[in-house]
Amino acid sequence: MKHDDESTTRNEGGERLQSVGETIFPWLSDIQARLAAPMRECPKCHEMTLSGMGTCDPCTQKREAEAEEERHRDALAPALESVKDRFRWAEFGHPDFAKYEISAPAVAKCRAIPLRGIITLTGGSGVGKTTAAVARFHAELRVPRDQRRWGYTSRFIACREIGRETMTHKIGSDFGPKTREAFAAHLLVLDDLGAEGESKPVAERIEDIISERADSNSCVTIITTGLPLDKIAARYTDAIGRRVSQNAVIDMAARGRTKG
Ligand SMILES: [Zn+2]
Repeated sequence: MKHDDESTTRNEGGERLQSVGETIFPWLSDIQARLAAPMRECPKCHEMTLSGMGTCDPCTQKREAEAEEERHRDALAPALESVKDRFRWAEFGHPDFAKYEISAPAVAKCRAIPLRGIITLTGGSGVGKTTAAVARFHAELRVPRDQRRWGYTSRFIACREIGRETMTHKIGSDFGPKTREAFAAHLLVLDDLGAEGESKPVAERIEDIISERADSNSCVTIITTGLPLDKIAARYTDAIGRRVSQNAVIDMAARGRTKG
């Protein structure tokens, strides 16, 4: 018969025999282990903790949660930073919606409309199209469960930026970065359709972006435009005219301010 230690013996079959202490007080061995283990101070919260490496368990969990949150923030940063500076404030419920006299019913529609296909916000300059589009964009990026789905590739891109890139990237060369993002974004605010100028290659590039996105089941496009819907068909193609109006059109001037 071989002795493992003072309290544990094995019978001839090798089966472990429990010590009296373990049988009667199952928690006793745990306490013994804790008493035997050296305690040390957690470098973060200075509570005494069981020996091991680094911080105590609660501190470690907190640090991991913070790191996860930071990864989220980093991943969302390009989406948030793509918004033009002067619209970064735009969040539903922000008092400036009232200050700028942006139509409350139109804003409410913008906030509630299901995100799918193409959503077009129309109205003259100063009615708050871009502000409302950005508020919805921000709202989607703030929903944690949707961040992975929407957040990381979502972008705010002005048609003018697509125009500039199209004119500087010569025929046959690759798309510029904004143009690539406009094709790839899960949620895209395509700002100020019509403001990109009248050049044919630019119009065709914008048409390609809208058509490709309209055909996708997984991405959503919020278009803002000062062009009346009938002018969109005339300026681009009938197909584009249909696409920008087939799902949802919100007239931001409706029952809002009349000043341009
Ligand atoms: Zn700690």
